[in-house]
Amino acid sequence: MKEFVHEWLPQRVVFCTNTSDVQIVKKIRQEEYERVMVMASEFEMDLAQRIAKDLPVVHWFDDVRMHVTVDAIERALEEARRVNADVLVSVGGGSTTGLAKAIALETNLPIIAVPTTYAGSEATNVWGRTADSVKTTGKSSRVLPRVVLYDAALTVSLPVEMSVASGLNGIAHGVDSLWAPNANPFNTVLAIESVGALADGIRKIRQEPDNLEARTDALYGTYLAGVAFAAAGSGMHHKICHVLGGMYDLPHAQTHSVILPYVLAFNSGHIPAIEQRLADVLSAPSALEGLEELRSELSAPRALHDYGFAPDMIPRVVDAVLKAVPENNPRPVTAPDITRLLELASEGGDPRELQTTLERSYGS
Ligand code: NAD
Repeated sequence: MKEFVHEWLPQRVVFCTNTSDVQIVKKIRQEEYERVMVMASEFEMDLAQRIAKDLPVVHWFDDVRMHVTVDAIERALEEARRVNADVLVSVGGGSTTGLAKAIALETNLPIIAVPTTYAGSEATNVWGRTADSVKTTGKSSRVLPRVVLYDAALTVSLPVEMSVASGLNGIAHGVDSLWAPNANPFNTVLAIESVGALADGIRKIRQEPDNLEARTDALYGTYLAGVAFAAAGSGMHHKICHVLGGMYDLPHAQTHSVILPYVLAFNSGHIPAIEQRLADVLSAPSALEGLEELRSELSAPRALHDYGFAPDMIPRVVDAVLKAVPENNPRPVTAPDITRLLELASEGGDPRELQTTLERSYGS
């Protein structure tokens, strides 16, 4: 085993099916918070009201947008300051958690996060913001939620299609962490476990969306994948998705679902031992076959053109991706590689075709 460093992030994680309203009251009283700003998009506000009904709420903020834009941050920041909030309670997916993080970065306000998707932002100290079509990310201990309440009952309303895409976003955190800049043996264990739990969870959710056990499995996998990702950093997969999301406002979870098999096809031959563990947890002869089988069983998002991505957008993305891809990616990345990857992802082509192209170009 090589030398390595793993940083554990300090946070209290509570799994509490159907009791997040009770748990949150307990926490708010314990910490003596008196001025709660609840953040939830207008679509999740009813869930937020269910949970936060007994809290000393000074403001219900619902102006949440995807990709945490600078103007959304300004509006939320202004409100948090105006009402003199002493804690932020975010109820929702990664967009809501992300906006709360942006406020915490500026104000140092603590966050209690109640996630309702499988994006996993609550498990990381990573913040993101989008300005002029460029998404910037950074790390700060200020943005790590102090408490995370995972209540599977709050995720039952997440539509099956969104649950599938979001679950694959969670899986992408685990898989990308296997080759990300600070990948290490701890996060490999977390990542492999996360992929197994999320794959089982979303398979069951597809069959039975109200199944709380399946929803809890998916949240368990979400958290582990988020922890692995936070420790390892963004790998090639996340860099591609961030460029696409920032530049063309593509939907986050669906973009991850489309891109992952191509990055796996690109990298997997260069990490044979880890690839085998991924294959085993997906019960398939190879990791790529396992992921492809899962995606087809789930009818997961397959093609970027379904979300408005066109081939003429590829060159601009290639330039930005090349600047962002980590130097220690298991195999070197060139402009023709990314171009071919995006051509295939755009049309939803077979990821194995990427391997064929690479073999023809490089002989491996
Ligand atoms: P999202 O928060 O925008 O939610 C997706 C959709 O699901 C929205 O329409 C939302 O209204 C709906 N929704 C959420 N919960 C629901 C529920 N319980 N019932 C019904 N509908 C529900 O998207 P997301 O995919 O969760 O998160 C994406 C964002 O998170 C992106 O901005 C991404 O960059 C960020 N993110 C950040 C990190 C990080 O570590 N910083 C990690 C992952 C994602």
